[in-house]
Amino acid sequence: MIDRYKKQRVRMVDSQIRSRNIKDERVLKAMGKVPRHLFVDEGLVDQAYNDNPLPIGERQTISQPYIVALMTEALDLREKDKVLEIGTGSGYQSAILAELAASVFSIERVATLAGRARRLLDYLGYYNVAIRVGDGTYGWREEAPFDAIIITAGAPKIPKLLVEQLTVGGRLVLPVGSRHSQTLLKLTRMSEDINDIREEDLGGCRFVDLIGDYGWED
Ligand code: SAH
Repeated sequence: MIDRYKKQRVRMVDSQIRSRNIKDERVLKAMGKVPRHLFVDEGLVDQAYNDNPLPIGERQTISQPYIVALMTEALDLREKDKVLEIGTGSGYQSAILAELAASVFSIERVATLAGRARRLLDYLGYYNVAIRVGDGTYGWREEAPFDAIIITAGAPKIPKLLVEQLTVGGRLVLPVGSRHSQTLLKLTRMSEDINDIREEDLGGCRFVDLIGDYGWED
């Protein structure tokens, strides 16, 4: 059983991720390790390693493996890094981050999803992930600053409060655009001045809505 999913994971990494030019070996290794099939509903286990997002309940989705890899690579994580994630969802992206950084702080607005992710991450031994229920558009002030911040829901604009919670040199990766389509952006904070930001365009994408005071209305 375990072996069967391992094979599917190796194939996923080669055919969907390496082939699309994701090069960071640490990212490839993490994607080859985390058991994605445990993060989807039982009825969808056989589709867990397919090249697409899948529903996780509450009208939310687990992102396509390639998008997880692309965003993770863009975060440039080092082993000592402290990471903030907005949109825990299934907890799959959190587990990938937990493989690559020292600590992960993840915020989810839907309590049932947060609870399920918490149980699964505990079961898998990802004790370096802290999860909180709430509106992630405010960030996590008590734990700031972060070396990297990832938003896994589509934002109408760049949430300023989150840029403020980046270290100098910190990276923020997020989808920004309309409710139907967004551009994946990587922002790097260049100095103490929060307007001193380098911006890179990583391409088009489509995420569920970031809902909150600095996101879309519910
Ligand atoms: N990273 C997740 C993707 C989940 S989809 C995974 O790997 O499965 C995006 C998630 O963002 C949803 O669970 C949604 O409820 C959550 N979300 C949307 N707006 C939010 C907000 N303001 N704060 C926290 N979570 C939010």
